[in-house]
Amino acid sequence: MATDLAKFAEDNGVKYFMISFTDLFGGQRAKLVPARAIADMQEEGAGFAGFATWLDLTPAHPDMLAVPDPEAAIILPWNKEIAWVPANCVMEGEDVAQAPRNVLRRLIAEAAEEGMHVKTGIEAEFFLLTPEGDAISDASDTAAKPCYDQQAFMRRLDVIREISDYMLEMGWNPYQNDHEDANGQWEMNWDFDDALATADKHSFFKFMTKTVAEKHGYRATFMPKPIEGLTGNGCHAHISVWDAPGAAAKTNVFAGEGEGQTGELGLAEKGKHFLGGIMKHASALAAITNPTVNSYKRINAPRTMSGATWAPNTVTWTGNNRTHMVRVPGPGRFELRLPDGAANPYLLQAVIIAAGLSGVRSKADPGKRYDIDMYAEGHKVRGAPKLPLNMLDAMRAYDRDKGLKAAMGEEFSAAYLKMKGQEWDSYVSHFSQWERDNTLDI
Ligand SMILES: [Mg+2]
Repeated sequence: MATDLAKFAEDNGVKYFMISFTDLFGGQRAKLVPARAIADMQEEGAGFAGFATWLDLTPAHPDMLAVPDPEAAIILPWNKEIAWVPANCVMEGEDVAQAPRNVLRRLIAEAAEEGMHVKTGIEAEFFLLTPEGDAISDASDTAAKPCYDQQAFMRRLDVIREISDYMLEMGWNPYQNDHEDANGQWEMNWDFDDALATADKHSFFKFMTKTVAEKHGYRATFMPKPIEGLTGNGCHAHISVWDAPGAAAKTNVFAGEGEGQTGELGLAEKGKHFLGGIMKHASALAAITNPTVNSYKRINAPRTMSGATWAPNTVTWTGNNRTHMVRVPGPGRFELRLPDGAANPYLLQAVIIAAGLSGVRSKADPGKRYDIDMYAEGHKVRGAPKLPLNMLDAMRAYDRDKGLKAAMGEEFSAAYLKMKGQEWDSYVSHFSQWERDNTLDI
C-alpha cells in the first residue's frame, strides 16, 4: 500500500512501475515507467492512444491518461524491482466512462451510498497447455476423472507452488490449490475481499499465472472451453454484502433472519433481493460474465468426459448443490456459477453489483428454489429461462435489458455492444471446416 509512489519506490528498491489498465475485452495494457518519472505520472497519468486498445475511442481522440491507483500497487514477487499498479483511465480531466475499472468504481460508490459494500471471492480456473496452446502440457494427465489427482499435481508442483508462494508473500491469504475436473486444469483459491480489491487481484492473478507458466515452458489459459469434451474454465463468484468496506466491515448484511425459501438457507431480506436482481438480469448479464464466442461452448455444453460440465444452462438457484446457476452454500452468501475465465475482472464485479443493486431497489424476488439435480432433472423445471445459447443471444438480451444497461452506464453499454458486435461480425464471417464438412456435398 502506498500513497506516494516515489517514496514507495525509494523505500522498497523499486526501479520501475508497470502502469496498467484493462480494456473492454479484458486485455491488460501497460507502460513501464522508471521510478524517476513516477511522481509526475502519479499526478497526471501515463499517456496512451486509446484507439490502439479496445475502448471504442477514435484516432482523433486526445491522449488517454492512465492514472495509477497507488493504494493498489503490487511489487512483482518474481521481479522485485518492478511494481504493477492498476490505473484509472482519464481524458481531459474526466473519467473515461466506458473504461472497466471506472465502471466498477462508480457502481461501488453507488452501492456505498445505500450502505452496501460488496465483497467477493472468485475461483479463476485455468489450464496449463503446451506453448502452442493446442494440447495439455502433461501428456500423462489422461484420467477420466482427474479432479484432485495427486500424482498429476506432483508433475506441476513447480508452477502451482511458485504461484501459491507469491500469493502468501503478497498477503492474499491463499488457502487451497487443486487439480480441477478437466485434464490439465487447476484452481487456486485466496480470501475474498472488497469488489475492487478482488478485481485487481483477479487481474494480477491472470498476469502472474501466465507469466509463471511461461517461465516453466507452459501456456496458462483462462479460455472458457480450451479443449473440446473437457470441463471448461469457470470463474465462480462468491458474493456477500457488508456494512462497511475493508477491515471496517463488521456485519454481513446478507446474513440473518429471512423469510421463505431464501431465509431457510440463511439469506436475510437484502440478500434475497440482491439474488433476485441477479436472477432477473441473468440472461443479459451473461453478455458480461460470458463475453466470448467460446463462452457458450462451456455453458449449455453436452456432458464432458468427467461426467458433468459443472456449468449451468438454466436460470435457477438452490442450496448447496452445484448443478444450478446460483448455489447458496451457507448462510450469508451465495455463489454465482455462471461467469467464465474470459470475464473481464472489473466488469464481472460491476455487473454483479449493478444487477444486485437493481434487485435490492426493486425488492426483486429470486423465484422458486429448485432442490433437484439440474443435470439429471432439469427438464422438469417449467418457466425458468434458459441461458443464452450464444454470444449474439446474450448481447441481444443485454441490449433489451434497459435497467441493466443504464446501471452499467449508457456510454459503457453503447461502447461494449459496439465492440462486441464487431467481434461477432468477425466471427460469423469466418469460414470453418465444419461448414465444409457439412455443406460441401449438399
Ligand atoms: Mg472449480
